[in-house]
Amino acid sequence: MSAAIDGTSAGAVDGATDALMPAAFFGHGNPMNALEVNRYTTAWRAFGVAVPRPRAILVVSAHWYINATAVTAMPRPRTIHDFYGFPQSLFEVQYPAPGLPELAAEVSDVVHPTWVGADVDSWGIDHGTWSVLVHAFPDASIPVVQLSINADKPLDYHLELGAKLAPLRRRGVLVMASGNVVHNLGGMDWALADDGYDWAQRFDEDAKARMLSDPTELATLDAHRDFRHAVPTPDHFIPALYLAGLAGASEAADTDVLVDGYAYGSLSMTAYTLGLSCPRAGDETGSPQPQPPAGLPPDASNI
Ligand code: ZN
Repeated sequence: MSAAIDGTSAGAVDGATDALMPAAFFGHGNPMNALEVNRYTTAWRAFGVAVPRPRAILVVSAHWYINATAVTAMPRPRTIHDFYGFPQSLFEVQYPAPGLPELAAEVSDVVHPTWVGADVDSWGIDHGTWSVLVHAFPDASIPVVQLSINADKPLDYHLELGAKLAPLRRRGVLVMASGNVVHNLGGMDWALADDGYDWAQRFDEDAKARMLSDPTELATLDAHRDFRHAVPTPDHFIPALYLAGLAGASEAADTDVLVDGYAYGSLSMTAYTLGLSCPRAGDETGSPQPQPPAGLPPDASNI
């Protein structure tokens, strides 16, 4: 049946316009940020307020790091509490956003011939995603779909896959990536709540210079002298490559820093936007980064 409707009859799908949707990368850090208000969460909230309302949010989270490229395709994704040792209040957080099963087919279409599996019963919305979304989009009314990180693939694969997602920005899809550019759990010192080691700052600043000038060069950071310290495992770094790929594929690679800083010595909390100017957070530190329960080994926390 043809749907001949005039331009004034509000027949368009919510968010499905020709407007170019922004995209972003978030350094999520400690999942307790979900329950806190600090300069990072304030910036995440400001991002959510500033973006046009999307039709759906497609999230590349560091915490869905598997041996396949897949998207969640269930109508009601569950909230996953994939960490250890945190207070019960964090395990009680729910992010009841709907899924959008048809987006799986759209993703598959735009990234062809790269194969993408449709996950209907394995994953859902993990804490890399919901710890940011509870601030950015607190009413959980926008459909959320996750795209896995294929652990078998090199950095260039992820950069190129990010670039292939670019057409979704014209279809009302907000692509968000969530990880940490610098993420070394074994090197964490809880006492350094808002500090970064010299090597962490060097690496994050070099990543920043690339993201702001020539984003696709982010994929060559594996040659950086601090790469082994900053990126001992690639799961939290790779999401930034998706934003870099999107930026490289856009006419205006207008990347910007949303907020930056360090946590526990060996994490960077830097967040970037693409195609969106958002007021920068002030210099006030606000609440320090949250502390974990005493005695929890950082590398057992899965943060
Ligand atoms: Zn994490």
